Amino acid sequence: MDFGLSVEERQIRDTVRAFVEKEVMPLEPEVLRNERAGRPGIEPEVLRGLRDKARQMGFWGINTPEEYGGAALGPVMSAIIAMETGRTFVPFSFGGSADNILYAGNEEQKRRYLIPTIEGERRSCFAITEPGAGSDARNIRTRAVKDGGEWVINGEKTFITGGNEADFVMVFAVTDPEKGANGGVTCFLVDRDMGWKSEPIPTMGQWGPASLVFEDVRVPEENILGELGQGFQLAMQWIGQGRYMIPARAVGAAERLLQMAIDYAKIRKSMGRPIAEYQAIQWMIADSQVEIEAAKWLTLNAAWQVQQGRDARHAASIAKLNGAIMANQVVDRVMQIHGGMGYTKELPIERWYRELRLLRIFEGTDEIQRRTIARNLLRGHARLGTIGE
Ligand SMILES: Cc1cc2nc3c(=O)[nH]c(=O)nc-3n(C[C@H](O)[C@H](O)[C@H](O)COP(=O)(O)OP(=O)(O)OC[C@H]3O[C@@H](n4cnc5c(N)ncnc54)[C@H](O)[C@@H]3O)c2cc1C
Repeated sequence: MDFGLSVEERQIRDTVRAFVEKEVMPLEPEVLRNERAGRPGIEPEVLRGLRDKARQMGFWGINTPEEYGGAALGPVMSAIIAMETGRTFVPFSFGGSADNILYAGNEEQKRRYLIPTIEGERRSCFAITEPGAGSDARNIRTRAVKDGGEWVINGEKTFITGGNEADFVMVFAVTDPEKGANGGVTCFLVDRDMGWKSEPIPTMGQWGPASLVFEDVRVPEENILGELGQGFQLAMQWIGQGRYMIPARAVGAAERLLQMAIDYAKIRKSMGRPIAEYQAIQWMIADSQVEIEAAKWLTLNAAWQVQQGRDARHAASIAKLNGAIMANQVVDRVMQIHGGMGYTKELPIERWYRELRLLRIFEGTDEIQRRTIARNLLRGHARLGTIGE
């Protein structure tokens, strides 16, 4: 069993780490200032500039197939890179990627949606959640009805990340109410100019989702992504990727935060001694690292299973549940170690605190991950006592 990275993998990791430290982290004060003034943290042109710079270094399309100009580094390396970019709260990711399900499109759809998304010319959003169906995604009500060569979509979606900025949406609608999620839900690619409307939803974090309204939006038959009735499987495929990329970013964030706490504990004095000398503080530091390490290996295991072409759903649910809880526990302890300073807006801890809380809610809540894990075990889809099987 080899838990090490190859020379090449280590080089990639180190280069990304240096890029994040040199190019991205210096933007943090400005991002905080912008966000606190109610502006977007990072201007689109600044983000584009960073992505272009990274592209010149070969960091483009981390998990994108080579035939689309990507680096095709695979799920494990993608997770390791997400751990590095997760070290900063600057909303940065490398360019050259597109939603995994856009590869299910036909040649014309790839030309109109996949390739422009990879190139950063078009922005997508993924819309399954509705006001009446979040965790219960099988129960969506948005309806698509065939009318000649077109489908007419009516319904409302909510909490859609990037929904107010996107040029097109991958929207999931019921095409056969009898069958529901088992063959009666279809994914449509719908351009904004086809008539859907969006409205931003203010949240406690910087993650600004939107509600989308579809009122008699007419979509041509050729805009069905994948096959008619197979949309629910595509939705699960899209969500599957987040289940190891979300905890990967969480690991990076938690390591950065813990380092801040370690540095602070060494210089902050109380009752004549640095607080680092008190066992209460040491235990918070130790517990945090134990949890971070556990999350790191659960995440890499899930990514590795995806890379091996295995059914990684169980491992990914475990990684997502654990990573989300871990990040929230770590940021809470880091705030505690900083005392009153941790609660102020002088430091970015309160910002991380608000943002990381989302990890326990989106792309499957903690409760839904637990439900999945327990059901897999109870029904025999997953077994105890396995190692890498
Ligand atoms: C910032 C943000 C961004 C998002 N981005 C997107 C996006 O891009 N696209 C998209 O489609 N969706 C998106 N979502 C939606 C997100 O995935 C849902 O909010 C999430 O799945 C939970 O659904 P809900 O909010 O309806 O909560 P509910 O499903 O109403 O759940 C409420 C509570 O009940 C619990 N619960 C529900 N069912 C069960 C059960 N069977 N057993 C035990 N407990 C249960 C939940 O865990 C939760 O604690 C986003 C959400 C947020 C907040």
